[in-house]
Amino acid sequence: MRRCDVVVVGLGLMGSAALDALLSAGVDAIGFDPLGPASDRGSSHGSCRIFRRFNFENDNYTGLSDEAHAGWTRLEASSGESILVPCPVLEAGLPGSAAVAASHAAAIANGRPDPTRSAAEINDQFPAFALPADWDAVVQDGGAILKAELALRIMRARAGERVIAEAARIDPRSAGVLVRSRSEDVLAQRVILALGPWLSRALPEIGSVLNVTRQAVGWFRPARPETVLPGQFPIFILDLGIDNTVYGFPDFEQRGVKAAPHNHGRTVDADDWEPPATDAELATTADALARFIPGAAGPILERDVCLYTNTLPADRRPDSGAEFIIDRWRDPRLIIASPCSGHGAKFAPAIGARLARLATDPNYEVEPFFQLSRYSAFA
Ligand SMILES: Cc1cc2nc3c(=O)[nH]c(=O)nc-3n(C[C@H](O)[C@H](O)[C@H](O)COP(=O)(O)OP(=O)(O)OC[C@H]3O[C@@H](n4cnc5c(N)ncnc54)[C@H](O)[C@@H]3O)c2cc1C
Repeated sequence: MRRCDVVVVGLGLMGSAALDALLSAGVDAIGFDPLGPASDRGSSHGSCRIFRRFNFENDNYTGLSDEAHAGWTRLEASSGESILVPCPVLEAGLPGSAAVAASHAAAIANGRPDPTRSAAEINDQFPAFALPADWDAVVQDGGAILKAELALRIMRARAGERVIAEAARIDPRSAGVLVRSRSEDVLAQRVILALGPWLSRALPEIGSVLNVTRQAVGWFRPARPETVLPGQFPIFILDLGIDNTVYGFPDFEQRGVKAAPHNHGRTVDADDWEPPATDAELATTADALARFIPGAAGPILERDVCLYTNTLPADRRPDSGAEFIIDRWRDPRLIIASPCSGHGAKFAPAIGARLARLATDPNYEVEPFFQLSRYSAFA
């Protein structure tokens, strides 16, 4: 039986970043995951995610974005690859949009110039857009297209033979936590469970505060291709009312405009990845493109499905319900990560660093809004 200090089970963006942080610090660590970076499963799969510096979900995340940005930059420097492709982030919505107001407030609080733009200014700067005159809008700087699959590939390559490409299960014992896969038994002092939507398979009790939802994604053939290229077209997030947000990217892959609804889809099981995204699931997105970004609207070229793992609102502190869980479990040898309420990817280096520290520094505690004790069931 192998022995090591820390095992990471699950190597999506969070587990990969945690393993990278551990190995970089010289910790004897091993990771398990049956999926590779090119898989079409797991919440981290696919070519891109939005990197925002200012997060309408919670201003606590601005510092986390900055920390993560530094981490991505280090990974870029060590690999020679561009993981973050700078891109303005347009957030726009119906008059009084809380999301637009929150991003505006975060930018101002952090000393940035006023990001407010009129709809006319947006339509002029980005010719694919036709925003209604009375809409609120901001364009935040510091945003980027995060090349998620590339980041996974780089971290996987850096981990080299420390990765075992098999599913694993845990078996806590008095001498350590036994991690068992088809071909390996590893006895670890600490185990990080970064299992995305599969977390409650390992720890069924955590399922009481998680809700896994199916999210449809589409690539649309733009009506005016010249208007949706990087440099002419921002990352966009349109706030169309309660539970109706649509986001998308410039056509940076010559694949069409990737756009999707951010409202939480139906609750599913972590193994429910079929069927492919339907026209009905992409209807609000197609409609939003046709009405507000006509240059990007057109037939659906490709489809994808991804899963969000949403935390339920906490009952022991104010919480938007879009927060993450990054903490030790009841058995403190187990560390858990559930940072997937649709906006976790950008923070992976910062979250990986927290997971690594929870596994190696017994005196370290994460910020209270990440802790499990915000739920009375786990206090
Ligand atoms: C459609 C969509 C769009 C998103 N857009 C954005 C965005 O624009 N910006 C942003 O910041 N975030 C975004 N997110 C959120 C972000 O992608 C997630 O927060 C992040 O990918 C979660 O990563 P993870 O490592 O926690 O989970 P996952 O990537 O799901 O990783 C879990 C891993 O655990 C592995 N696993 C499962 N069971 C086992 C086992 N028994 N043994 C070993 N391994 C196992 C799986 O194979 C998987 O690789 C989006 C998410 C989705 C679904």
